[in-house]
Amino acid sequence: MFNAGTIVKVLVANIPNAGYDYRLTESADIGTFVRVNVMNRPCVGIVWGLGDSNLPENKIKNISAVFSSRLNISDMQWIARMSEWTLIPMGMVLRLIVNIPDAFCPPRMEPLYEYNSDMSCRMTQNRQAVADAYSSNDNDAMTISDIQNIARVSAAVVRSMIKNETLVPVGVQPKNRDVPELIYRDCGNIVLNSQQQSAADVIGASIENGGFSVHLLDGITGSGKTQVYFDSAWRAYSAGRSVLLMMPEIALTAQFMSRFKNRFGQVPVVWHSNLTAARRREIWHGVLDGKIKMVVGTRSALFLPWQDLGLIVIDEEHDTSYKQEDMGNYHARDMAILRAKISGIPVVLASATPSAETLENVNLGKYKQLKLTSRYGGAQLPDITTIDLRENRPESYTVDETQQTGFLSQPLCDAISETLAAGHQSMLFINRRGFAPITQCKKCGWTAVCSECSVGMTYHKRIGKMLCHMCGRTMQMPKTCPDCGGDVSMRGVGLEKIEQEVKIRFPNVRTALVSSDIISSRQSLERLVNKIEQGEIDIIIGTQILAKGHHFPNLTLVGVVDADMGLFGTDFRAAEHTFQQLFQVSGRAGRGEYAGRVLLQTYQPEHPVLTAICAGDRDSFMQTDMMGRKMANMPPYGQLIAVIIEGQRESSLQAYCNALRDAIPNLKGAKIMGPITAQIYQIRNWYRMRFLVAGPRTANLQPVVSSWLKTVKQPVNIRVKIDVNPMNFM
Ligand SMILES: [Zn+2]
Ligand SMILES: [Zn+2]
Repeated sequence: MFNAGTIVKVLVANIPNAGYDYRLTESADIGTFVRVNVMNRPCVGIVWGLGDSNLPENKIKNISAVFSSRLNISDMQWIARMSEWTLIPMGMVLRLIVNIPDAFCPPRMEPLYEYNSDMSCRMTQNRQAVADAYSSNDNDAMTISDIQNIARVSAAVVRSMIKNETLVPVGVQPKNRDVPELIYRDCGNIVLNSQQQSAADVIGASIENGGFSVHLLDGITGSGKTQVYFDSAWRAYSAGRSVLLMMPEIALTAQFMSRFKNRFGQVPVVWHSNLTAARRREIWHGVLDGKIKMVVGTRSALFLPWQDLGLIVIDEEHDTSYKQEDMGNYHARDMAILRAKISGIPVVLASATPSAETLENVNLGKYKQLKLTSRYGGAQLPDITTIDLRENRPESYTVDETQQTGFLSQPLCDAISETLAAGHQSMLFINRRGFAPITQCKKCGWTAVCSECSVGMTYHKRIGKMLCHMCGRTMQMPKTCPDCGGDVSMRGVGLEKIEQEVKIRFPNVRTALVSSDIISSRQSLERLVNKIEQGEIDIIIGTQILAKGHHFPNLTLVGVVDADMGLFGTDFRAAEHTFQQLFQVSGRAGRGEYAGRVLLQTYQPEHPVLTAICAGDRDSFMQTDMMGRKMANMPPYGQLIAVIIEGQRESSLQAYCNALRDAIPNLKGAKIMGPITAQIYQIRNWYRMRFLVAGPRTANLQPVVSSWLKTVKQPVNIRVKIDVNPMNFM
């Protein structure tokens, strides 16, 4: 405890350094939340320790407010270690924790609006987004800024909805809503099978004994992993500890919520990016005050101010959405394990297709593997086979009297017909949005490229325009080539093109398209899931958005249109990710009483990824893949740090990169490679260059990178992004 008058160092959220000195006006513990002024702006910080600036007394400002809550010492250690690991400055790590506006001030008095669903007005896409924003917040009243942020609509849309009385004013934002303490109960209505029970008991023992441990709950889709970690959650929760269940946003489905409710008596507190400011604030304070002891959330839930955290569960641990790539690169799974290690608590990782990193930690004996091998309730694994496209070339078909290249082979079409005849559902998986990815001149070879990003424009039939998948810019499809006036044609295949082919080959079927641009919110996904469950859809055509988390008992055929897509990325994880994706997709078929089958269209059925999937042999596939990585010193056997340098002027970017190259230190064991032009050289008008730092697993590369970057002064118009263990090499 520091007494009033003590000079302390305060780590300030959102200020990228290690803190400033201030004078305490009342006594405070280490870790206590305080308000200080930085450049005359009030900011939230925490008391980090004794001051060490040696500034004269009269230069040191007073702390303006001391709050009653604090972070634990272990969380402060976590902030410091996370900063060392990710090279995100400590103040920016604290910002991830203090991630609600005006954390300790009463909220601003803003007018609130309710959604009036009785008002019948024409449902546009924007209005639907507003309706979805409300339903993702239990139809709570919202401020205008909430509506705009969550639904991602303009002020004009909101104004028009207020005018036509779909949005009704209901007063102003109340000060603090009081959060009642949330009590879950054990409904005790789930009987685990013997495999589940023994896994649950192993984890239960770790919870009881305390201390850091990591358990990999390794089970095929449908093997009942969720009930095992629910059991673990209950054991920790009923012992009075807090529990964090992390999952990808896409897995926060209504099906999951109802399973949770069925187990614990009520729906969980859910934390994700689309909550109102008031709701975020409520949950944040509820967790800080220990009133909310269990939260289901996306990666940012890790940064809630947890009190007495006793267990972290990370579902779909291999999922790439745990990797944050916009503002400070970190991997939420790895940072969760770091947090657990410092606090001395168990972690449960769940996956049907664990990442190579996790499997290697199992091999090293650091993580304990708990296998679930049978499908719960006796459902069968689907039968997975390839269709060799060299022998089964898809036939062309005709639309509006023009010949179109087909993408569905005869064996796949036959399987669809049989499935339709049996009254079952099919899913066609194609991991590409839009209609056609390439628009090209037949005469001179010109292709349509985004003017701000160096990527091709994809034609989207639904909006009738070409769209840049990098920045969202749209462009009219040119009638003729802008360079030579020749005819332009569209090449390649996206899911809209598959839908066109399906409608020609199976004229009366009911199709649904599923991709991130069409299914833009969890609510729109739920509506679709409902339609599929009600049997209103015969053929689902989609990207990986439907690849996880849903049970469709009547879905018995999965066709992968292009299993080769993704196998030839330049990224060393391409095979692993393709395998995970196809494996997940295959897991959709035959989860009910009917057996399912999966057909993979490919030009190279002998490829090891595909033979492994057909054999259902994940382990030998991963072994082969990891062997290759070991030879190449790639993660998890080696370490990589990417340094991405971006500039709006090519000349200054080039000059800075050259200076950095000249300053590359001589290193033992490790090396710094580059600069190279990034694969996508330009995004939103920023030019991009990359360095790659590589070293053995045991090397401590972070200090090397930070001291190297410090040797060259960074110009003002340059951005430097550091990505430790990068997933993305574009
Ligand atoms: Zn041309
Ligand atoms: Zn673009």
